[in-house]
Amino acid sequence: MKKKKTIIIKNERLSQIRNNLRRIIVIAVNNRIKGLTNQIQSVRVNDLGNYRELNDSEKGIVHELREERNNLDRKLKESICKCLQCGRVEGNMIYNLVFKEWHCPDCWTATKLEYERTKALADSGKPTGDYAFDYYSTFAD
Ligand SMILES: [Zn+2]
Repeated sequence: MKKKKTIIIKNERLSQIRNNLRRIIVIAVNNRIKGLTNQIQSVRVNDLGNYRELNDSEKGIVHELREERNNLDRKLKESICKCLQCGRVEGNMIYNLVFKEWHCPDCWTATKLEYERTKALADSGKPTGDYAFDYYSTFAD
């Protein structure tokens, strides 16, 4: 079963355009997340800067703002705009088809090598703790 898909742009100009578009998207989403966080704070904190008791209407507002913020955060993490592990925006990315995540080639390779090292330990009967083999095996070839 195929476990990964790699998107490679070789043309330098196109690569720059892609990276710039990703930066714009990440900045825009992060600004929106920051704005939502500020809105939540403005509802939750009184004039003295202390957290206050919220009525049902305010709780509903805060809940909706948090939902939107969490949704944006999740969508950004799922997107090709950033490496899930290191947050890198630039460069080609590899998609984990099993877990539906984007990783930069450096993180992919490091994760794959770590999996291979840990699997070798397990195969030789050494303890590997609660290492998530089901997840990390998807980085192996
Ligand atoms: Zn990375």
